[in-house]
Amino acid sequence: MIFGLVGKSLQHSFSKHYFEKKWNHLQLPHSYQLFEFDNVDAIKKQLNNLPNLRGLNVTIPYKTSIIQYLDGISDEAKNIGAINCISIENGKWTGHNTDAAAFYKTLPNPNFIKKILVLGNGGAAKAVIYYLLKNKNNITQAARNIFNIADTSFDCVKQINWLELDSHSLLDYDLIINATPLGMRPDDAAFPLLYTTANKHSLFYDLIYNPAETTFLLLAKIHGCKTKNGLEMLHLQADKSWEIWKKVCL
Ligand code: NAP
Repeated sequence: MIFGLVGKSLQHSFSKHYFEKKWNHLQLPHSYQLFEFDNVDAIKKQLNNLPNLRGLNVTIPYKTSIIQYLDGISDEAKNIGAINCISIENGKWTGHNTDAAAFYKTLPNPNFIKKILVLGNGGAAKAVIYYLLKNKNNITQAARNIFNIADTSFDCVKQINWLELDSHSLLDYDLIINATPLGMRPDDAAFPLLYTTANKHSLFYDLIYNPAETTFLLLAKIHGCKTKNGLEMLHLQADKSWEIWKKVCL
């Protein structure tokens, strides 16, 4: 069977190596291919021609825009408004979200986290916010595009414009999450945050895993805060994708 990843630029993908190592170990003959697309319209049209394709992961920038091309979507993914995994059975494409549960599982002591700042408004930010809201957390979201902010389906999230961040105190936040690609290799940019105002007990969580320590995490560490990168989440969301795909390829 064939599985794969769709996205715009996949040079730094970890998934092919991860899945092929797993299947090798399980003595399964599956392959994992990287499918780069410049346009979301072309994805289903082209990949539908692969008869043995049973599953896909979806990455930047198609986690939301691909939903309109699916034949079905899980209730959870529908509520989140973003998918990162597709199962394909009898030509029917069904969308799932494994980012959300994977993220939540990696949080140390989620019950002690009350106030949270989420940076970004893409697929990963939606997944993260969905699970945090289940825990009735107090969430502020910052994004650079005011139209995107207004579009969000999470009405009880306080929203601020990106430009307000350089005067926004971080003191009250227990958790600050980077859910944007800013700082991803080869870029080493960081957010214009008031790192010096951060509470030393707060956790800075970057969903990026390459590099292992982004400038965002480095600056937080310098100011004495706790840090975590996206590697554990990456493994968990991949394992959850495999749990879904197993059901359509056995
Ligand atoms: P996405 O759907 O394309 O959304 C990206 C978000 O980041 C959008 O809000 C976008 O704003 C914003 N953004 C993009 N470039 C930016 C920049 N240079 N400065 C400021 N904001 C920027 O992507 P995604 O799927 O949410 O992924 C976001 C990040 O999370 C990526 O780094 C991805 O690798 C990581 N991630 C990690 C895991 C994991 O398992 N560890 C899982 C999912 C995602 P606009 O709308 O204004 O463009």
